[in-house]
Amino acid sequence: MMKKFRDNYSIVKELAALKRYLRKGHAKASLIAADYQRYESGLRGEQSTDYYLSGLPKNDYYIYRGLRLLSDQYAFQMDTLLMNSRFLLPIETKNHAGIIEIDENNHFFHIVNGNRIKIKSPLQQVSRQVYELQRWLIKKHLPNIPTPWLVVFSNPTTSIRNFSNDPLTKERVVTIEDLKEHVLNLTELFASKKASEKFTNSELKKINDYLLSHHSPKTTSILKSYNITIKDLETGVMCSQCQRFAMFYKNTLWHCPHCLATSPDAHVQALLDYFILIKSTITLKEGCHFLHLSSRNIVRRLFSTMNLKGQGHTRARQYSLPDK
Ligand SMILES: [Zn+2]
Repeated sequence: MMKKFRDNYSIVKELAALKRYLRKGHAKASLIAADYQRYESGLRGEQSTDYYLSGLPKNDYYIYRGLRLLSDQYAFQMDTLLMNSRFLLPIETKNHAGIIEIDENNHFFHIVNGNRIKIKSPLQQVSRQVYELQRWLIKKHLPNIPTPWLVVFSNPTTSIRNFSNDPLTKERVVTIEDLKEHVLNLTELFASKKASEKFTNSELKKINDYLLSHHSPKTTSILKSYNITIKDLETGVMCSQCQRFAMFYKNTLWHCPHCLATSPDAHVQALLDYFILIKSTITLKEGCHFLHLSSRNIVRRLFSTMNLKGQGHTRARQYSLPDK
């Protein structure tokens, strides 16, 4: 059973919208571009992990993606959490391409284009998650299930040179191709231990119910989390060819005065970005302002091309995206 919470998918969409609409030269532009790259690469890594884990026997494993739990006031989120009758296994995913080298003291280096760059150890991150997860299980009076861990490098082109003196690092830092095998080996290893407990279906169900009902998604809006206000955003419709915000609407087409590109539906991306960045509803007046149009009739027509659903009457009528 795979349960996806997929927060990273929404974050990538939000960052892409923010990257488009943030005013040129804004002080936070490079931070947002870097975060976008990081989350986008992370998302690809997670999708690749999903693919490789999908080969595990379905009835034996519960798989949770992007589960975020609260321990006291502190939130911790796990890329992947896997549960079977022997353990609860956080899997931390990294998506670096190239070579990963781990020295004898557990320091991680990323070798790319001949440069050896020290990177943050994923072991610290995963051990913190394991610690928080154990505390959370105790606090919720849940069965005392073991919590081993894995770190997976999810880019299929990555190779790992592991010189660590720590046997756990040797065993548990793996490439994506070896992931499924490692999960199966770990399961066998736990089953073969005399003292290892096999948890019953009802115990697993109880843990599962708790995990699902305690997922706490981030609720802060993207603008708030970067301390950006609406004034920092462009308005208007962006030209997809030259990325300028100058498109005007004439004879049922959007025209760019700079590169002369035309588009019948450039307003669609603009309004989707509006709903992501600003709010989930829009009035005709707000639509006129945001799309740089003076005619409410044209805005109404453009809204109807997207099947926006309207609520309320006359000037206060609020439009929003249709339910999926
Ligand atoms: Zn253009």
